Amino acid sequence: MSEKQSISIIGSTGSIGTQALNIIRKRPNEFTVIALSAKQNLSILTEQIKEFKPKYVHIEDLSARTVLKEIFQDIEFLDSTEEVAEIDNVDIFLSAIVGIAGLKANLKALTKAKKVAIANKETLVVADHLVTAIQAKHHATLIPIDSEHAAIHQCLCAGAKDFNLSKNSLVKEILLTSSGGPFRNKTREELEKVTLKEALQHPTWSMGKKITIDSSTLMNKALEVIEVHALFKIPYEKIKVVIHPQSIVHSAVSFIDGNIIAQLGSANMEIPIQYAIDYPYRKELAVEDTFNIFGQSWDFMEPNFTCFPLLKLGYEVGKLGHSYPTVFNAANEAAVELFLNEEIKWSDTEKLISNAITNHKIIIDPSLEEILDLDREVKKSTKLLAGLNCPINFSY
Ligand code: NDP
Repeated sequence: MSEKQSISIIGSTGSIGTQALNIIRKRPNEFTVIALSAKQNLSILTEQIKEFKPKYVHIEDLSARTVLKEIFQDIEFLDSTEEVAEIDNVDIFLSAIVGIAGLKANLKALTKAKKVAIANKETLVVADHLVTAIQAKHHATLIPIDSEHAAIHQCLCAGAKDFNLSKNSLVKEILLTSSGGPFRNKTREELEKVTLKEALQHPTWSMGKKITIDSSTLMNKALEVIEVHALFKIPYEKIKVVIHPQSIVHSAVSFIDGNIIAQLGSANMEIPIQYAIDYPYRKELAVEDTFNIFGQSWDFMEPNFTCFPLLKLGYEVGKLGHSYPTVFNAANEAAVELFLNEEIKWSDTEKLISNAITNHKIIIDPSLEEILDLDREVKKSTKLLAGLNCPINFSY
């Protein structure tokens, strides 16, 4: 039997984190869980610690940390996700945290871990230039977990042998698929009246709340367009969003010689999570897969940029680059939080984000500290603009 792979997971209690642990649970002889990290979910984290017996644990909430320290006296408790990323000799660092809260830890992990499996798209969106520089210096392997990006990764590897960034001129177009979200068929007038409950009902994927709301506004797709550019250095003009309501084709790559390679499968995140964990190898799927190619119709449509203006804005922000993606992401994180608290309407999120972009003065190649400062500033002003002078919780 080969040696066990060591793995640390930040965001272990969330949708991606728990699905990653489902895979690990089914393959106990292959992995040792070194560290787990969460924000506040005491009950799920307690069960995970009992089951996976990590050496290190981080929980952001201090009262929850005190409780866990009492229960698990043999475990070393860390003060931040960055400290989790600093642990030596980790084979896989799996980033399943949501939002910019993952940024510092992910950048650190790229200098330490053999492989970083990343679901946390916000890091790639706001700090493409920092990620690229660190990756080049430390030769870190960075594998996306996002299903579309895992699909594109596989299509690129299949279509351009041993794909690396020097081969991206072989790509004619990236076909980035999107279910279209729960409001795909709504008119602009109807979109003004949608509720939180409706926005939380994604038609094909079961995910955490923030990404579910992002999917309803197509902000998630806008972030993913920037994520494609960040990961594969494909020009924005070559990234095409395709509405595919069935979520069977997870994306495709069209090559210059007329061949198009697509990746398809169930709408089950455990598949791309396992792909990232096992890369560059393939192992039998650890969970049941009910995919059936028969009896399914597949539709492909153009996105409606008028009804979903954030998608169009995402392209513009991506092309502007530098500090603009940070503003785009920060205003969205603040707006989604307000919407989840039922303090603003669904359509207000677009207005708040667009306003933040209009008022921004570019910072060229922002440093990590500049990104974090700007993030705080934009979140504050977005809240103020929403007419609610209540504090946003910054935990990074
Ligand atoms: P969830 O909201 O379900 O989970 C988020 C996780 O991050 C939780 O474990 C949460 O802890 C933890 N967390 C949040 N803030 C902090 C913090 N400051 N310090 C430490 N831990 C923190 O999110 P998802 O799993 O849905 O999404 C995670 C990431 O993956 C996002 O970037 C998302 O865009 C991306 N993604 C998700 C997909 C999905 O299917 N869910 C698909 C593709 C990408 P706690 O539980 O204690 O609050």
